Amino acid sequence: MEQLRSNLSRVRIPEPTNRIYKQECCISFDTPKSQGGLYIDMKSFLAFGKDYVCWNYEKTANPIYLHIKHTFKSIPEDRPLKKPTLLAIGTDGGFDNNAPEYVETVNIIILPHFLSLPFPSVELPEKVRLAVDAILLAEGAERKEQLAFWTADKKQISAYAMNLPQIDNNVIVPPSGWKCCKCDKMDNLWLNLTDGMIFCGRKSWDGTGGNNHAIEHYKETNYPLAVKLGTITADLEAAGETSYGSSDVFSYPEDESVEDPLLAQHLAFFGIDFSSLQKTEMTTAERELDQNTNFDWNRIQESGQDVEPLFGPGYTGLVNLGNSCYMASTMQVVFSTQSFHSRYYKNQNLKLAFEAAPADPTVDLNTQL
Ligand SMILES: [Zn+2]
Repeated sequence: MEQLRSNLSRVRIPEPTNRIYKQECCISFDTPKSQGGLYIDMKSFLAFGKDYVCWNYEKTANPIYLHIKHTFKSIPEDRPLKKPTLLAIGTDGGFDNNAPEYVETVNIIILPHFLSLPFPSVELPEKVRLAVDAILLAEGAERKEQLAFWTADKKQISAYAMNLPQIDNNVIVPPSGWKCCKCDKMDNLWLNLTDGMIFCGRKSWDGTGGNNHAIEHYKETNYPLAVKLGTITADLEAAGETSYGSSDVFSYPEDESVEDPLLAQHLAFFGIDFSSLQKTEMTTAERELDQNTNFDWNRIQESGQDVEPLFGPGYTGLVNLGNSCYMASTMQVVFSTQSFHSRYYKNQNLKLAFEAAPADPTVDLNTQL
């Protein structure tokens, strides 16, 4: 307890904005269910498995950790095994879908000697009790990242939309019959919302698309926003909800499709009444969806060729989790690259990488690779 009191300055009570890791070690794949449990640094809120928490102590000298361990409850042997009688899950007679139950044990651990103090305990300093409560209540940063990943496709309002400069050079854009100002392209055209100039879009990886004139115009002028002609639809109010169908506004400096809440006004500046326009072209999001659903597998599958199965050292891939074959094949290609192999596999030392990493190693590409 004395050691804990003398190190109170190395304990922080997390604030709502702090990222708290409590589901997986930032170096290994250890979780609270691993044999050694998980150690959460009570100053940085990073999590470490038993084999790696000492590395963190050496690097930061932070001695106070919240140790979380999940132990599965053993099923009593006298409990009769219920055989499913129904092809169903989670209902009477069906398969049991309950995850195995576990018991959570929480301790305060003080390094380097792994001194253990039980939690909860009235003897613990209030600061420690508040910090532990906040950590246990918090949603883990790992889970937040998963959610962020799945919602990453939603378009954001452009930082350039609200104060977009528009130059009055008497441009009136007709409702149809557009053409690139620099070439003969008549589809995949983008109207720059600052000067009203119309240019063709980017060249796609498969050779289709435009001649890059719209993005070249941005590089010359820095006018940030363009809307794809033929995608402008009247559902502007619903645009936030239906990002697939709504008008396709691209922000060059932000390098992604964005929402422009003032699009009607920006278009009216060039004489365009959006309610009179028909949607004739796919938006970027629709195009991506189309390319992914109508992909030609034969192009990458070596169909018709005799291929020889290989195995042994250097040919062993990752275990397929059921949906991870894409990642496994990508990693296989990456690992067959000589420079990657020698940089991250042969000459890399995980501990040195961790020591050289910035304060949050979870965002350090070098450590994570
Ligand atoms: Zn062009």
